[in-house]
Amino acid sequence: MDFLQKLGIDSYNQGVSTGVHWVGSEGEIIPSFSPVDGKHIASVFLADANGYETAVAKAQEAFKEWRLWPAPKRGEVVREIGMKLREHKHALGQLVSYEMGKSLQEGWGEVQEMIDICDFAVGLSRQLYGLTMQSERAGHRMYEQWHPLGITGIISAFNFPVAVWSWNSMLAWVCGNVCIWKPSEKVPLCSIACQHITAEVFERLQVPEGVSNLVVGGRDIGELMARDHRIPLVSATGSSRMGKAVGIAVAERFGKSLLELGGNNAIIITPDADIDIAMTGAVFGAVGTAGQRCTTTRRLIVHSSIYEEVKSRLVRAYSQLRIGNPLNQENHVGPLIDTMAVDMYSKAIEACKDQGGNFIVEGGVLNGDGYESGCYVKPCIAEVKPDYPIVCTETFAPILYIMPYNDLEEAIEIQNSVPQGLSSSIMTKNLREAELFLSQSGSDCGIANVNIGTSGAEIGGAFGGEKETGGGRESGSDSWKAYMRRQTNTINYSAKLPLAQGIRFDL
Ligand code: NAD
Repeated sequence: MDFLQKLGIDSYNQGVSTGVHWVGSEGEIIPSFSPVDGKHIASVFLADANGYETAVAKAQEAFKEWRLWPAPKRGEVVREIGMKLREHKHALGQLVSYEMGKSLQEGWGEVQEMIDICDFAVGLSRQLYGLTMQSERAGHRMYEQWHPLGITGIISAFNFPVAVWSWNSMLAWVCGNVCIWKPSEKVPLCSIACQHITAEVFERLQVPEGVSNLVVGGRDIGELMARDHRIPLVSATGSSRMGKAVGIAVAERFGKSLLELGGNNAIIITPDADIDIAMTGAVFGAVGTAGQRCTTTRRLIVHSSIYEEVKSRLVRAYSQLRIGNPLNQENHVGPLIDTMAVDMYSKAIEACKDQGGNFIVEGGVLNGDGYESGCYVKPCIAEVKPDYPIVCTETFAPILYIMPYNDLEEAIEIQNSVPQGLSSSIMTKNLREAELFLSQSGSDCGIANVNIGTSGAEIGGAFGGEKETGGGRESGSDSWKAYMRRQTNTINYSAKLPLAQGIRFDL
């Protein structure tokens, strides 16, 4: 596994870094096992309270200097990170695939997404603009400007071990913030590799130590960050359960949070759909990354006139799926992240059966040759009613629920009836259906697509969702505003002091 060496991963790795320097820790050591073959990859010293304090202190100090760098100069640093990522794309993609279990193509795709967000952030570094308004007072000028916030705390999930960090940090950096990243403890090596990659650039460009901090830790470190008043913005990606805890803790101290949480995404397939497109979108959406994307297709809402046809085509497509080592590009479906996830998958299948679900493609845990890690499961499909409790829950595994509808309003109501609101799509060639789905009485999700599945989003758009998905927006469009504070400035260049609203105050 020469990619480990190329990325600077040792057998034992420190889990705290303030940029170029690594900080020794007395914390617990955690081993990282690959879900691909169950083998031990390497171990990491988790951050302890001292390590965390060192990172916060360094970040506070670095912010004082970093915020004074002109934004395009900060953009130059991000541009160089993008160049380094291009150099390391092959190795980093392999590590993502091996440590997390997604396919090699998706591992490389994740690194490509990092490169794309770097390019986006570089352009942005010359466009952090505010508006100019007309003042009601003569001889006055009024405008708004955006200033950096300070420390951006980034808490990330296991399923996008590198891209989510880059979405946050590249934007936060060009905005003038410093970052502290707490990655998922399930994929610590990916974060260590990223830290090595950025360190090369930071050292060469003499970026202040403390602009990029890593604290590998568990939930306890995430909780410290959420409560820490020195961190004005906490951007947290993960389950709705985690987001609720973080959101409450951050709000209690009047901090800002950016929450990217669970999804329960549906595709509506209408009688006017191109069925070939609908099938590809649905199957890739449901089984890609073994159902472990926040945007995974979990529900198919199919018009009753084509319901039987869609069902039989799905059964046929699922019978052709190859499940196995994701580094082998012949395979379509890799493992779940760990045996706990396998357990949750099995329990969800049981619950679905108890609630009345009828499996048209049976699930099950795979054993034997090539499946030694115990993390491989069969993607499955169940016919359900939309209001089964299990259907309204996000199970992070390849279980697809299918249900019929009769008219489009009903389909949209079903689609919107779950607590989550991340991604949605409609498959139709009918303009009226498409526009109704996109209208104010259509999908209630942050992402609504036509003739594209629910999974996979381009970085140019704002990414995120409503309701229990948390309401945050990251990545493209004007998401950068979440990383800055807005200041309204009024300048009086007249020789008088007129008050607003015509109020007089004569002395
Ligand atoms: P998780 O909620 O278990 O953990 C996510 C991160 O939060 C980890 O770093 C974890 O250590 C930390 N954490 C857990 N509890 C915490 C707490 N109380 N306080 C502070 N930090 C805490 O999620 P996961 O299993 O790693 O990832 C899967 C989930 O993430 C799914 O629900 C998926 O939909 C969601 N996700 C959402 C998006 C999005 O953009 N909307 C993207 C990726 C993943």
